[in-house]
Amino acid sequence: MSPGEQDIALMREALALAQQAQQAGEVPVGAVVVRDGEVIGRGHNAPIGHCDPTAHAEVMALRDAATRLGNYRLEGCTLYVTLEPCVMCTGAVLHARLARVVYGAADPRAGAAGSALDVYALPSLNPHTEVSGGVLAQECGQLLKDFFRPRRINADPLREDGLRTPDSAFDSLPDYPWSPHYVNDLPSAAGWRLHYLDEGPRDAPLTWLCLHGNPTWSYVYRRMIPVLLAAGHRVVAPDMLGFGKSDKPKREDFHGFERHRQVLLDLVERLDLQRVVLTVQDWGGILGLTLPMQAPQRYSGLLGMNTLLATGQQPLSAGFLAWRQWCKSQPLYDVGRLLLRGNAHLSAAEAAAYSAPFPDGGYRAALRAFPQQVPEKADDPGAAVSRQAERFWQQDWHGRSMLAIGSQDPVLGEPVMRQLVASIRACPEPLILPQAGHFVQEHGEGLAQAAVRHFAT
Ligand SMILES: [Zn+2]
Repeated sequence: MSPGEQDIALMREALALAQQAQQAGEVPVGAVVVRDGEVIGRGHNAPIGHCDPTAHAEVMALRDAATRLGNYRLEGCTLYVTLEPCVMCTGAVLHARLARVVYGAADPRAGAAGSALDVYALPSLNPHTEVSGGVLAQECGQLLKDFFRPRRINADPLREDGLRTPDSAFDSLPDYPWSPHYVNDLPSAAGWRLHYLDEGPRDAPLTWLCLHGNPTWSYVYRRMIPVLLAAGHRVVAPDMLGFGKSDKPKREDFHGFERHRQVLLDLVERLDLQRVVLTVQDWGGILGLTLPMQAPQRYSGLLGMNTLLATGQQPLSAGFLAWRQWCKSQPLYDVGRLLLRGNAHLSAAEAAAYSAPFPDGGYRAALRAFPQQVPEKADDPGAAVSRQAERFWQQDWHGRSMLAIGSQDPVLGEPVMRQLVASIRACPEPLILPQAGHFVQEHGEGLAQAAVRHFAT
């Protein structure tokens, strides 16, 4: 066996110990001490199991070897370890006067053999020990990556004052094949976990930021998303807190205009979205239309469907007031059935997908709160920022616009949308969809095709 082959064979012994650490729930690092080609000490990470901050794989292996030899000096021995040693373990190695250290993966965060710092290079500290790295580095590093990946996802804590719809509620939804993405540390989200879809290339020529309204979620965009992706574009579609796959705060008073707006602003910054076509309907626009003035350079287009700027200066439509009253009188209304009412083409499974986020009344704080939160009077929360946004759209907007109106909508139909058209600088004549109701996206396939032509040329 050549020296290189021997290093690989002995590193495999260390890797097997790293796997034992993983099975014990410890960070998977393993180590062996070798003398004359023979393994005389073994160890794996065990700080949790041993309640011992020094129980790193290297220390465990050095102790094992020293006990076996009856000598704390391990002169002439080699340590094989799957991860670059830290400062503490390097100290132990130097005290043991090892001849050689061979490690697998580098540790950019804490490695003391050249990554974070290089203790071995200090002759005053290290007259004895030779060090080399990179043996089976890929396998050693992959084990660590695999270990941390699932833990980070599972470690998403749920706040005590909230609920999280079980994943099983979203099993096998029709026409919603996209992977979930989560973020739980947006500054304004206070520890709540937000779900979003993020499909298509990061450097796409356009990013469609698709914002849903009440009581829907990103599912409402499923007919449009494939068209946008087929054009080579990126789609980002969040579920607002309280909706879809995002966490559900139990308290209605969580659901304020300013908070939801700030969460969306934070998400746009976090994902660093560029060349955005703001794509909005219902509350997606009530909130979303106030976003571009905060970072106009990020936005190149607006696709608006049955929505409004709620400035508090015009009375809310009679249809909206009736809807708000109805929500109050029917607090446990069936969301899927509501969608079916204006969209007879939906299958039972599609209707059920709209109900899926809300297994019982406890999950429905957002559904109760949102209709009450539409700014109605000039000093209602959100009204002033909506007026500011209206000035932005009238005077400072330089992107392209496209508005589409679902004619069958008694709530935010043509009369309301005509006001929005008038509020947007250089807005072309809106597209009228005679068959579509409030949830325009349910008729969105052809609309998405028209929008791709409109914005991509
Ligand atoms: Zn260590």
